Amino acid sequence: MKTDIQIAQEAEMLPVKEVAAVYGITEDDLELYGKYKAKLTDELWEKVKDRPDGKLVLVTAINPTPAGEGKTTTSVGLGDALKRLGKKTMIALREPSLGPCFGIKGGAAGGGYAQVVPMEDLNLHFTGDFHAITSANNLLAALLDNHIQQGNALGIDTRQILWKRCLDMNDRVLRNVVVGLGAKADGVVREDHFVITVASEIMAILCLASDMDDLKERLGRIIVAYNYAGEPVTAADLHAVGSMAALLKDAIKPNIIQTLEHTGALVHGGPFANIAHGCNSVRATKTALKLADIVVTEAGFGADLGAEKFLDIKCRKAGLKPDAVVLVATVRALKYNGGVPKNELGTENLEALRKGIVNLEKHIENIHKYHVPVVVTLNSFTSDTEAEYAFIKQFCEEKGCEFALSEVWAKGGEGGEALAQKVITTLETKESHYEALYPDEMSLKDKIRTVATEIYGADGVSYAPAAEKALARIEEMGFGNFPVCMAKTQYSLSDDQTKLGRPAGFTVNVRDVYVSAGAGFVVVLTGAIMTMPGLPKKPAAEGIDVNAEGVITGLF
Ligand code: ADP
Ligand code: MG
Repeated sequence: MKTDIQIAQEAEMLPVKEVAAVYGITEDDLELYGKYKAKLTDELWEKVKDRPDGKLVLVTAINPTPAGEGKTTTSVGLGDALKRLGKKTMIALREPSLGPCFGIKGGAAGGGYAQVVPMEDLNLHFTGDFHAITSANNLLAALLDNHIQQGNALGIDTRQILWKRCLDMNDRVLRNVVVGLGAKADGVVREDHFVITVASEIMAILCLASDMDDLKERLGRIIVAYNYAGEPVTAADLHAVGSMAALLKDAIKPNIIQTLEHTGALVHGGPFANIAHGCNSVRATKTALKLADIVVTEAGFGADLGAEKFLDIKCRKAGLKPDAVVLVATVRALKYNGGVPKNELGTENLEALRKGIVNLEKHIENIHKYHVPVVVTLNSFTSDTEAEYAFIKQFCEEKGCEFALSEVWAKGGEGGEALAQKVITTLETKESHYEALYPDEMSLKDKIRTVATEIYGADGVSYAPAAEKALARIEEMGFGNFPVCMAKTQYSLSDDQTKLGRPAGFTVNVRDVYVSAGAGFVVVLTGAIMTMPGLPKKPAAEGIDVNAEGVITGLF
């Protein structure tokens, strides 16, 4: 079997203008970044915005193993399969973060014969969106520290600064730093922190903003610190909005590339799926819905985090109405949820499968709470056995759930035709009555309790004193109507990553809470959440190279 990068490099790409032309996008509507990447102009949006929307299909997954279960792979393969069946289809995905490519995780362009290309560009600098976000983030940080240096007219309490610097790199030594060391002219000394760019609130804002005006309003609302009176100080107070927006002027435009089978893919934005909502940009999703009959999109992590946030944050805020959800399961992850250790997942084990299938069951029930039809798909691995397939298929049929095996990783779009057919039938015969899980007016604590009990299956929620205090303050500041953005382990439905399957009899422990006022949600932290990853003992970076012709190897 060839590696992902080998397959990607052997692909014969079409010029992106030919890919775009299929959707009625003319060269005038494209800002080309070389031959194979382009941004979509604002004029294009103006031209298409009043058209009817196509159907929106979300791809999500059960609780995964640490290797990932193939949501992106399935999204890409499903898109290609729908196209093969004659449907005008577009895919809307997140842009990968650069830092993790050099660690242990591979890129995020899909896998096998279901990938978007050019893979190396996408995983490295792409069209510079993340550099723009990094710059805007750090401009705000620079203006903040300069304000303090220049006399601190806003009375910013240097012990209550919330804004952090960022970098798109896995660099653990930057998690906690001291800035301003040196002489008087070198600034005021204080403890500071770096997050990875995808964890910046600006990333979440860019993904939720509908246009430049909305982007600016959201940037202005960012709370950077509290003053000595305990009141919030915002980016607008620092007069930072115009210059940040200027840096983001191109980054807010969706990028178009293609799959290995030349289906159009809008790849735009990539917020974290824990401290942010983990979906590609609203702008890209909405544009895709105007250009295609079916749009396939993905949300980060398992359905308890990714789909919940897609449905309760993105769809609610953007007025999107999903028509179907594809729930990806793998034999490996079901066995993992049934208690099999990571290194034994390749061996047939029907007993573990039987134990672990309750995880899939819970996710099916959860999606039904949003009144959106579900199709379950099994992402096929070479180590899976017929008996294991048969068991899962029967389980889904007994649950009255559409089921299809997906072989897109090995066969590309052809391997996804069975799934695509089920999706088409679902779209044609089952109506979505999408409704968010809780109303805006509910108190923050009730929202948290609703997600914890309904989605995670918890008995209730307990709060650390800091979280209690923060919640009261956030409601006092007038943000009680925001949705909640839960930061939780992706490996369990609970907040304890060792509780696999379908845990019961547990309480979710909320450690702290803060408001992302610009993004428009309240982040609820359960357990320690990493916002600046580190590199492993043997980083992938050591195996990456580029030759004299500019061909990159070792990226996976
Ligand atoms: P997710 O989006 O859920 O994180 P990805 O689609 O990015 O998952 O896939 C994670 C990794 O698993 C990728 O390296 C991909 O190549 C690999 N992968 C996905 N599906 C399969 C499969 N059916 N067989 C083998 N490897 C797969
Ligand atoms: Mg993915």
